[in-house]
Amino acid sequence: MRLRNYVGGGWRSVEGVKALDDVDPATGEVVAEVPLSGAGEVRSAVEAARAAQRAWRDVPPQRRARAVLALREGLLSRREELVALVSADMGKALADADGEVGRGIESVESAAAIPHLLKGETLEGVAEGVDVELVRQPVGVVAAITPFNFPAMIPLWFLPYAIACGNAFVLKPSEQDPRPAGLIVEIVDSIEEIPPGVVNLVHGGREAVTAILEDPGIDAISFVGRAETARIVAEGAVRTGKRVQALGGAKNSLVVMPDADLGEAMPAIMGSAFGAAGQRCLAGSVCVVVGDAERRAEMREALVAAASALTVGPGDDPATDVCPMVSAAARDKVADAIESAAGSGDAELLLDGRRDSGPAGTLLGPTIAAVSDPESELARDELFGPLLTVVEVPDLDTALDFLNGSRYGNAGAIFTRSGAAARRYRYEAEAGMLGVNVGVPAPVAWFPFSGWKSSIDGDLHANGTDAVRFYTRAKVITSRW
Ligand code: NAD
Repeated sequence: MRLRNYVGGGWRSVEGVKALDDVDPATGEVVAEVPLSGAGEVRSAVEAARAAQRAWRDVPPQRRARAVLALREGLLSRREELVALVSADMGKALADADGEVGRGIESVESAAAIPHLLKGETLEGVAEGVDVELVRQPVGVVAAITPFNFPAMIPLWFLPYAIACGNAFVLKPSEQDPRPAGLIVEIVDSIEEIPPGVVNLVHGGREAVTAILEDPGIDAISFVGRAETARIVAEGAVRTGKRVQALGGAKNSLVVMPDADLGEAMPAIMGSAFGAAGQRCLAGSVCVVVGDAERRAEMREALVAAASALTVGPGDDPATDVCPMVSAAARDKVADAIESAAGSGDAELLLDGRRDSGPAGTLLGPTIAAVSDPESELARDELFGPLLTVVEVPDLDTALDFLNGSRYGNAGAIFTRSGAAARRYRYEAEAGMLGVNVGVPAPVAWFPFSGWKSSIDGDLHANGTDAVRFYTRAKVITSRW
């Protein structure tokens, strides 16, 4: 089945362009063909969006909020279908896919508060009889370019806020697993309160991204993906005068203090490192073990025991802890990095998950590698697979030096029973989303998804009030009557 774009309220076949196979990561079966749209397809979507936005902006915010609430109802009524599709297309375990869809719905719920969120500011009497008022107006036509690893949640980070603010929206999902985005748009299509053209979907890869960057009809771009792509998108957007928020990659550290309760910490570390096969921007991919030789040995043993107990398998098996990776190429890249670190003596493999790679060549078992050089590839680069790197340090000072030496600043967590250590960590860690005795500190949607450093290009994050500021322009009116 060749996927279709959704433009101006109708599904459109895309002919005359190349297509990619959408492969089920568990079986290797080709489940759909993804058309690689180009500038022409992007232009039609932008024209439809531009035409719809003029009237949509005039719809009162309370009614736009009701449209968003109708989207929530639509998502809830097809939740199971969406969860199954996320699992089938991206590969993640069903429980994880359910969590993803739940988080996406949470963003919709947050955006439904738009009449409150859009309220402006006033200051009376700045001079005799003169008042100043700030109002927020939609930016216009906004595009979102999204990654493979949250094929439902990340489109839902953007779509509800963008349209609630009075913009029209063009979505370009990942070409690796675009079917959940298609289902979300199918739900949008069924909602009377969202007029044709307000939401559009364009399938494609790099060429579509280039077209989005170049199209003069797009006013703002939300992007999530690798840091390298984020930089391409951010630079391209600035060059063509568009507002941009480009969320990039991560390499998050989990600091385990000598006083941490391992019974509590270990399941959180396992979930963080190996959930979704490590393909999360909040994955804890480095475990920073603080303590003496005895503690290090205890931690190595505990990590290996816990990881060895995890089940590797397809996403639709409820027993699965570690799901297939998104593609055989992604799996091979991580396996090659493990091979090269182990072969060169840079890493000591405490647990090697490179066994049977499964029917689609996508399975990689949980792997744990201890490194002596904290600047090595395994400790510093985002490899995005079920690989946990262990860095051993004597104290919290050294742990903080290590984690603050990362080019990324997305997230991190500390496991401790000490309030003083936790306080110092939260004060000094250079990352925007921190957990204290919590492995995956994903903020609820009423807060911004707050990465720092190379984990974002741009100032305003996804979700919360940042989203409303990103999708609106402030206008300040000074009046004398
Ligand atoms: P990716 O950068 O390969 O792709 C993201 C999007 O960009 C896709 O829609 C793709 O079509 C497009 N794209 C890819 N390469 C491009 C190029 N050279 N030029 C123009 N467009 C291009 O990312 P991915 O592999 O799909 O997603 C995983 C990455 O996303 C990881 O690095 C992960 O950390 C990151 N991520 C970050 C966050 C966050 O909030 N910071 C959240 C989720 C994922």
